[in-house]
Amino acid sequence: MGRLPFIAGNWKMNKTVEEALDLVRGLKVHLKGIEDVEVAIAPPFTALYAVSQELKGSSIHLASQNLFWEEKGAFTGEISPVMLKEINCRYAIIGHSERRQYFGETDETVNQRIKAALRYDLKVIFCIGETLNEREEGKTFSVIERQVEGGLKGLGEKEVRDIVIAYEPVWAIGTGKTATPQQAQETHRFIRQKIERLYSGGISEGIRIQYGGSVTPENSKGLMNQEDIDGALVGGASLNAEFFSRIVRFKEI
Ligand code: PEP
Repeated sequence: MGRLPFIAGNWKMNKTVEEALDLVRGLKVHLKGIEDVEVAIAPPFTALYAVSQELKGSSIHLASQNLFWEEKGAFTGEISPVMLKEINCRYAIIGHSERRQYFGETDETVNQRIKAALRYDLKVIFCIGETLNEREEGKTFSVIERQVEGGLKGLGEKEVRDIVIAYEPVWAIGTGKTATPQQAQETHRFIRQKIERLYSGGISEGIRIQYGGSVTPENSKGLMNQEDIDGALVGGASLNAEFFSRIVRFKEI
């Protein structure tokens, strides 16, 4: 069975509640009737509840941009998986490179967050990717391998089925420099082979691997045509309903 393409929009620290609602209303119009691609959006925490209300009855899924691994308690500034479940979040983005780069996220904390999300029945978009330095030093595959092993540590076959991997080369995020379809495909293949070594039961063939890094309506089709690219995690272009919808409708281009 083929893998259902999955396009997710990471809004990062953008959009007030009013702006978020405007964008969602636009997306609902542009994406009406879309069934052959799964779609999710990740607004900032302040807009999640309002967006979740606006998404009722729509096929667009809600995602958070992070979560903490405890259910509740004295963790000032954090958001728990229970709180996200309550407002109908389906996915949590975990381990985004901006979290790793600016907020001290490590493979260990990524692993803790992934486990917590799955424990509370949230699916995960697990982000990995090498920096420019690491690529230039020929370390892309070893970095990816370390991130995959670290992030998935202790997870069994059943749990991994609820994970989507987002390969996002850090040098391509927000820079306008996209990996070529061939560069992305090569790393996606490597990731799938790594999953095959870690898990049996057809997991590697079923797991979806998104590409992220300056995806636009212009380059999405070339990327999506690659055998091991099953979707996209979109930052900048997800802030505009028309651009994001054109990426989702890549098959019609
Ligand atoms: C991202 O941050 O996940 C991302 C891919 O951003 P952009 O599309 O803006 O490069």
